[in-house]
Amino acid sequence: MIYAGVDIGGTNIKIGLVDINGNIIADNSIKTEPYEDYKNTLEDIVRDIKLLCNQCGIDYHDIAGIGLGVPGVVDSRTGTVSYSANLGWRDVPIVHALEVASGIHSEAANDANCAAWGEYKFGASKTMDNAILITLGTGVGSGIIINGKLFDGVASAGGEAGHMIIVKDGKRCNCGLKGCWERYASATALIEQTQEAMDKYPDSIMHDIVKEQGKISGRTAFIAAEKGDRAGKEVVDAYIDYIATGLINLGNIFHPNAFIIGGGVSNEGPALINPLEGKVNSGLLANEYNPKVRIIGASLGNKAGIIGAAALVM
Ligand SMILES: [Zn+2]
Repeated sequence: MIYAGVDIGGTNIKIGLVDINGNIIADNSIKTEPYEDYKNTLEDIVRDIKLLCNQCGIDYHDIAGIGLGVPGVVDSRTGTVSYSANLGWRDVPIVHALEVASGIHSEAANDANCAAWGEYKFGASKTMDNAILITLGTGVGSGIIINGKLFDGVASAGGEAGHMIIVKDGKRCNCGLKGCWERYASATALIEQTQEAMDKYPDSIMHDIVKEQGKISGRTAFIAAEKGDRAGKEVVDAYIDYIATGLINLGNIFHPNAFIIGGGVSNEGPALINPLEGKVNSGLLANEYNPKVRIIGASLGNKAGIIGAAALVM
């Protein structure tokens, strides 16, 4: 059986053909065009799936299902995109429209939930029925798997851990609230914190690293910390504390087997994961009596969205 997985992003749409074991047989990416009508986007997607089929000698009609990951609020039960800021969609009956355009059974879910589902079915949390995926990128995305099922609340409007408030009257978030976790734990926030430290410490080697690399990035402070720079260490330590604060909150509510960490920042590997695991576990309630919550890097990388979307229809 072959399935198609589609991961719609603000700038690109990643599309892949996936087998029953979660292996990508063929994939590519097309531009997200700013169409007035969402049906044009679906036509682009169907055309691309047909192209991929041609490329690897698969009969289009053998595609058993199409899964779609969409950035925004997606009610997976009704197959409706309630709201997507990135795409400018509101109350779009996406699953029905995709089935009409493709002639193939389809399902849709929020993109972070797709990634969590992919990691659960075929990736880092494969054997774990309770795992929470956190992606540290432009924002903080999350996908919550409880007892082997995606948890996303009424009309799939929940499961947005990035907008839990960790600082009362804190920094203003794009969502309109103040003090959201993603304002402190995203890659965007890390860059902001790095900039602030650089202003404060003109002697920090972070200035040289930025000169070398052309721009400040989520890596700057980690590189400096690794070289023993005090300001860099301070940034990394405070940033990991912010991530830990959110994970301790989630840990005390769900106590999952593991937190799976994805997104660009997760490439820091042990320099991020090891201190985070220590901080989170020492912060959990009655931590000496309960099993440890593991912190694991995501394993499907930027293909998690495609694989997870395809897994929706398996
Ligand atoms: Zn927010």
